[in-house]
Amino acid sequence: MDYGGQQSCTDIGHSIAVRLMQHLVVPTFVLDAQRRVTVWNHACERLTGIPAAKVIGTNEHWRGFYSTPRPCLADIVALEQFDRLAELYSAHTRPGESGYGLRAENWCVMPLKGQRHYLAVDAGPIYDDQGTLIAIVETLRDMTDHKLAEMALKSLAAQDSLTTLANRRSLDDKLQVEWKRAQRNSASLAFIIADIDHFKCYNDHYGHQQGDECLRTVADAIGASVFRPADMTARYGGEEFAIVMPDTDLAGALAVAERIGSAVRNKGIPHAASVTAPHVTLSLGVASLVPASKSTPDILIAAADTALYRAKRAGRNCTLAAAAISSS
Ligand code: GH3
Ligand code: MG
Ligand code: MG
Repeated sequence: MDYGGQQSCTDIGHSIAVRLMQHLVVPTFVLDAQRRVTVWNHACERLTGIPAAKVIGTNEHWRGFYSTPRPCLADIVALEQFDRLAELYSAHTRPGESGYGLRAENWCVMPLKGQRHYLAVDAGPIYDDQGTLIAIVETLRDMTDHKLAEMALKSLAAQDSLTTLANRRSLDDKLQVEWKRAQRNSASLAFIIADIDHFKCYNDHYGHQQGDECLRTVADAIGASVFRPADMTARYGGEEFAIVMPDTDLAGALAVAERIGSAVRNKGIPHAASVTAPHVTLSLGVASLVPASKSTPDILIAAADTALYRAKRAGRNCTLAAAAISSS
């Protein structure tokens, strides 16, 4: 290859490095010390839909990834604005954790591609012999498929497979989080337990398969009766369901529980083996409190459970509230 005879070894090395970078399968771009794009390789063109000619020499590399101006990881490295990482990325390393550079992950809107991509990004500074910053290299990995699979797995792990409601583990986690939040804000937290009446007889009469179908119908009716996004409805155990309701006092929780009881009654699921009603019914226990510091959610669950027990004793197909409880 003819390099013109005038170029120094350093120039030749630089030219080869740039050409190599152009053909790397890893999407890569390079900024100079003024944060102008000097390299935008073919893989980066394919990933972003932006041709190199449009972006080389500009500060507009963000256009490949976002619809409004914001720093890319290479900018953060160049400007040493490490305090902005948490605000700009959903996950990131801390400075010094992965060599001189940074690693971060984020959903990017990719305006020219018209579809969101989850990108894992590495950005590293390059210094000259005097220690002056001369370039920042940013490489990108498209992790979208991996991220979507991870999200789907996470959501499956949080779900009850029969009813698709949240499962017991998600409910326990939610209760812990909301308990702490209610403690911090001195706010009410409510808990409802709903239990299908005479469900053992239902299974015995109609068979386990139809029992499962009944559980799904009841779960749908309960889920459709809990409107607020902040609340969580879960399958708590076999034929028991529970609802966690932040910022909800006893009267508010009682109203929701009554609505749930009616919704299930109104489904009119025949239950010929029940001595309570000719259709499937629920008994519900409700509790609400403002958690004291150093208390645990067990007290709230126990109070709702006691109210449920009393509802069963009172003839089933009804809702009872726990007596006023103190969590201190
Ligand atoms: P009560 O009115 O006092 O609540 O009586 P019950 O018969 O509903 O309560 P019990 O605890 O005696 O029985 C619960 C039944 O729920 C027994 C169990 O076989 C059934 N069950 C639990 N999980 C499932 C499930 O996933 N599918 C089906 N079909 N039945 C289930
Ligand atoms: Mg039960
Ligand atoms: Mg039951």
